[in-house]
Amino acid sequence: MTVVAVLGMGLMGRAAAGRLAAAGQEVVAWNRSPEALEPLQGIDRLSATTDLAAAIAPADRVVLWLADGAAIRSVLLEGVIGALLADKTVVQMGTIAPEESRAIGAELTALGCDYYEAPVLGSIPELSAGKLLLMVGATPQQFDRDRAWLQTFGPEPLLVGPVGSAAALKLAMNQLIGSLTTAFAASLALVQREGIAVETFLQILRPSALYAPTFDKKLQRMLDRDFDRPNFPTKHLLKDLDLFTQAAGSQGIETAPVQAVRAVVERAIALGLGNTDYSALFEAIAPVTEPQP
Ligand code: NAP
Repeated sequence: MTVVAVLGMGLMGRAAAGRLAAAGQEVVAWNRSPEALEPLQGIDRLSATTDLAAAIAPADRVVLWLADGAAIRSVLLEGVIGALLADKTVVQMGTIAPEESRAIGAELTALGCDYYEAPVLGSIPELSAGKLLLMVGATPQQFDRDRAWLQTFGPEPLLVGPVGSAAALKLAMNQLIGSLTTAFAASLALVQREGIAVETFLQILRPSALYAPTFDKKLQRMLDRDFDRPNFPTKHLLKDLDLFTQAAGSQGIETAPVQAVRAVVERAIALGLGNTDYSALFEAIAPVTEPQP
């Protein structure tokens, strides 16, 4: 029986650990802060610890659901844990830059690890149901070996290319999350302020070539200004737009439109909405206006 260590019990790591245990795998869940381990008590085949060495030692696979590249470095590469990683497979599933993934991969490989990346599109509901879209940056041999295991998370993992390529594809997707959401929020705001029925707006939009399913997914939250219980928090969107800008800028791609979206995300965070759902971009685009006396 293989043992999987899942590092990072944030929104996605917790769901991933639960999914693996439900699929019959032995899981050791690790988190820096103990509070995040409390909801994991009493789950079959799952143990939880803040002791990193105890989590990694029994594991064959180490799955990373940490916030960013800096967190991965501080957990795996800046302490004394490196020696424990030899002969283990490290699977990086968070959203980091292609350059970060290549550099982390090279350092882990030098420690004797087998490293690849498998960032995802989709969030907690898709992860819990095993329906994520998995983009894999790996060798064909790593992909063939782990394909069935990766299907625990999503039905059709796709081999994109070597390490770094899937990280870049993931950033291309998340740039769309920011840009589409901002664009929809701006149009919705104008429709509302002009007194046009929202349903009329959508009756034209839905059958048109301009429609994206994410609009309907986020509509109700925007209408209700209900941004609580996030699946994907606004602060991570800011991180991903910065990573996109860095990666695209280094390829000579114009990033001015993304900078404009970034300014909206930053405004939402300044309004205290960094830890809420990213549909909160609507609040930054169309703040509630006080009725005139
Ligand atoms: P999250 O809820 O913010 O969790 C972040 C995790 O990283 C926490 O376990 C946190 O530990 C840990 N962490 C942060 N800095 C650390 C450090 N310096 N040392 C050790 N641990 C550290 O994030 P998430 O939503 O689960 O996302 C995780 C990754 O997946 C991110 O890269 C995100 O962009 C990506 N992603 C998220 C979604 C989504 O829908 N949420 C979807 C696709 C991809 P503490 O509890 O100790 O702070």
